[in-house]
Amino acid sequence: MAGKFKNCITLCCGKKPSVVEDMTANGNGKPVHIDDAIDGLKKLLSEKDDSQAVAVAAAKIKQLTAELAESDSGEFNPVERIRDGFARFKKEKYETNPTLYGELAKGQSPKFLIFACADSRVCPSHILDFQPGEAFVVRNIANMVPPFDTIKHSGAGAAIEYAVLHLKVENIVVIGHSCCGGIKGLMSIPDDGTTASDFIEQWVKIGLPAKSKVKTDWSDMEHLDLCTKCEKEAVNVSLGNLLTYPFVREAVVNKKLSIKGAHYDFVNGAFDLWNLDFGISSSLL
Ligand SMILES: [Zn+2]
Repeated sequence: MAGKFKNCITLCCGKKPSVVEDMTANGNGKPVHIDDAIDGLKKLLSEKDDSQAVAVAAAKIKQLTAELAESDSGEFNPVERIRDGFARFKKEKYETNPTLYGELAKGQSPKFLIFACADSRVCPSHILDFQPGEAFVVRNIANMVPPFDTIKHSGAGAAIEYAVLHLKVENIVVIGHSCCGGIKGLMSIPDDGTTASDFIEQWVKIGLPAKSKVKTDWSDMEHLDLCTKCEKEAVNVSLGNLLTYPFVREAVVNKKLSIKGAHYDFVNGAFDLWNLDFGISSSLL
């Protein structure tokens, strides 16, 4: 019973939904259900004489019963999801890595600036296993880097400026991906340039040179295949745009900064990485 009660306490603190896996597995590796936890607590309650322990166990039963009713509703609970996620992160990562998080409390020194799509399937920290502090990340529709412009798109410019001049990152990687809705949007803009959205098409038009190139180079290709080609070509446009930032150009020329393109294919589980292969001529300086 003692072992089971211990599992119950873990369960309560984790505020898990009805079926709890991994960290609340019982001694034989099976998941602990809230039903079982409540039964365990009730049994404990009936065996205990200690009034304080009884009160604690009763409170736990009340809490677990409420959670059970909540989870049985079958509705997604965003607050519960966030609370669970943070509790899991704190228990399994934050509290088990005091050295890392102690260092991060003092500052950051990431080696990478990453541009990635906002698409929920392509989180760079997830797919490249970046640890906290390793990568300064900018995410937007279709992982675009706009050209240098102090009026438009200053959010992207500010991130690049901060990463390069203040954090002194050593690598910038622009990561495109398979099935990119933003690129499909770019490829679907009519030739007359008319747009139907307030922001999306105007934003992805940053990649128009890529669209033009793939439509010229593969004029007979099906639309979806052209989109796939454009996912990579748009990355190259962004690499070129990075060089329009004077501080990026200077760092690249001085070999303090490396620029790379990448493409993550989550359909086939592949990741391509390539170097910036533009010749950097003196006219760019
Ligand atoms: Zn995308």
